[in-house]
Amino acid sequence: MTSEALVCPSCAEPHPSDERFCRVCKMPLVYSGSLELDEPVSERHERARKIDPRYTEGDLVRVAGAMNQAEAEFVQGLLLEEGIPSTLRRTRGFDVPDMLAAGPRDVMVPASGHGAAREVLLEAEIVGEDPAADETRPSRVLAVLLAVLACGALIVWLGTELST
Ligand SMILES: [Zn+2]
Repeated sequence: MTSEALVCPSCAEPHPSDERFCRVCKMPLVYSGSLELDEPVSERHERARKIDPRYTEGDLVRVAGAMNQAEAEFVQGLLLEEGIPSTLRRTRGFDVPDMLAAGPRDVMVPASGHGAAREVLLEAEIVGEDPAADETRPSRVLAVLLAVLACGALIVWLGTELST
């Protein structure tokens, strides 16, 4: 049995286990064990070819949540069709043993692919009630509202100051 080191499916460069994408070609890394057993080289190259290098820059950010591994992999497939690489992370706060396929997952994409990924998933109606993305809007509205109120108060105060 080969070791469970992470390797790049494209250039076969080994990486430490905390890495998620190849430093050279930005491919999502796979375990070397699965690399040799799972699929022929042509299929891996096919997948590598789909990835758009524009979507591989920056830190990993969460783009969607999935109820379980299967759903998460479905989301990954949709993203890959648009050239967006992704990786899965166990949703924080759910302490399920690692070998279980159950439990929610976060789908993570490179920061530069986040916008495109959101579009893909919105179109597929997979996201929409994503709290991380939606809660920014009301707070921005509130900030503008507070600024307007502050200006109004200042004007009223200046008005009373000047008239006395
Ligand atoms: Zn590589």
